[in-house]
This record gives sequence, C-alpha cells and structure tokens, in this order.
Amino acid sequence: MRLINNLKFIVDNNVGKLAKWLRIMGYDTLFFDGINDSRMIATALAEGRVILTRDTQIMRRRVITSGQLKAILIKGDEPELQMRQVIDTLNLDCRFRPFTICLECNQLLVERSKRQVKDLVPPYVFQTQNQYMECPTCHRIYWRGTHWQAMTKKLNKLTQYQRKEEEF
Ligand SMILES: [Zn+2]
Repeated sequence: MRLINNLKFIVDNNVGKLAKWLRIMGYDTLFFDGINDSRMIATALAEGRVILTRDTQIMRRRVITSGQLKAILIKGDEPELQMRQVIDTLNLDCRFRPFTICLECNQLLVERSKRQVKDLVPPYVFQTQNQYMECPTCHRIYWRGTHWQAMTKKLNKLTQYQRKEEEF
C-alpha cells in the first residue's frame, strides 16, 4: 500500500517543525499559524490537504470524524518521533522527491546552472558544488552542502527505521 505520493499537507503550528521535514521529503506542505482553526479546515478541504495537529478539538470536528477530511493527531513531543508517526501512518516514502521544494516558502525549486549562480553563492561553494536549485519566490539558492548532507543523513535514518520494521 505504498503510492499516495501526491499527498499534500497542512501543518498546525503546534507541530510546526513537521512542515520543514515534509518539504525536505518533497511534499507540498502549508504551515498554519494556528489562529483560526476553521480557516485551516477550509483550506485543507479546498486543496485536499491532510491536517497534522496536536489539537484534540480539531479531531472532534464532524468533517474529520465523518472521514470527509483526513487529519492525524500527532502524539510524540520529539519532531523525529512525530515525523515517524506521520511516515508510518501514511506509509510515506522518505525518498519521494527530496530537495525539490523550498523549505521556507513551499515552492517548487527550479534547476540553475553553475554559471547562473556564480555571483549568488559564496566562492568556496561555487568551487566545490556543481548542482544548484533556486526558489522562484524567495530566490534562495540551494546546493548539496553540509546542511543538505546533515538532513539527508537524518532522512536516511528514518528510512532505515522503516526498513527494519518491514523485515520483522
Ligand atoms: Zn523560497
């Protein structure tokens, strides 16, 4: 029962860190400021997004109890445990489309050539990196530097956990 690859999310501010993780994996994920629950639900319904929240009130809404809208009540305190719960519940693929979405604004990144970013990245980056992506909205440039490597390592850890579970 893998697949479900085109899942989209809306993340409540009480589990805000999940937004970054899901974007790292390549899932279209909105961050909700937590002010107006009804607006979050309306957006989720209109755009077909799964709600992630720690708010039990939201889980009692009829639109959710009836199954019309999918929501997951997040249990753990640790972002990593929370992420595992989401991955396990929805059977998400950790290697879905890693590093294709801007971590800040949830926009699809666009590939850039080395020449195009010459004046936009630090010289040491330019010398050592060949692949670049740019966010069309905030114009942040992404490359596979140390930050990228650290995140990949964490993602792999979550994947390994997944594999181990499957073996038993
Ligand atoms: Zn951006």
